[in-house]
Amino acid sequence: MLALQGAFIEHVHILKRLPEVAEAILVRTQEQLESVDALIIPGGESTAMALIAERCGLFEPLRKFTRSKPTWGTCAGMILLANEASKTKKGGQQLLGGLDIAVNRNQFGSQVDSFETDLHMSAVLGESAPPFHAVFIRAPIVTALNSEDVQVLAKLEHQVGQTDTETIVAVRQGHLMATAFHPELTPDDRLHSYFVRLAQDYKGKSQDVVTMAN
Ligand code: GLN
Repeated sequence: MLALQGAFIEHVHILKRLPEVAEAILVRTQEQLESVDALIIPGGESTAMALIAERCGLFEPLRKFTRSKPTWGTCAGMILLANEASKTKKGGQQLLGGLDIAVNRNQFGSQVDSFETDLHMSAVLGESAPPFHAVFIRAPIVTALNSEDVQVLAKLEHQVGQTDTETIVAVRQGHLMATAFHPELTPDDRLHSYFVRLAQDYKGKSQDVVTMAN
């Protein structure tokens, strides 16, 4: 678990419940990063997280890690994994990149505009699975898919003015996964299980336990 800033401890609580996770390690140094099989980049503040990573000398190692090892970005983590992000009033920001998507930050407004909704995620959870209850807090959305390799995992159905709109809020591209919402803030661990299976597949031994960085 990347533990520089944001909602990392909530992810750790869920990971510790999963039998497949050997150890959930808080990553704050390059050595810790090099010791893990997979990484979760939590929600928080993507600009702050990138700045802290740079100051700790972790930005380039993180970029290298995300090029080949399973990484899941939630909310701010999704922004950091995107190849393109909308500029804010303060300008652009450093991105780790890797996911061929463009995102728009803070799409739904500020903290007070946070909301919860049910998402159908059949590609992840199975056709007849109950929906996933998703918490959106100053969330980004995916505004462009720039490669055919990007798989859409969830769409949010909402209204913009009088028009019903579908917005992409979760994607996967090979070893990279990103969700605009916060799965660590609900008791439902199905997305964490999915990511651990993804990490196991990449490790090449599907029955093996994995070491997970948060
Ligand atoms: N809006 C935040 C950002 O731009 C992300 C919010 C979140 O992670 N809950 O980084």
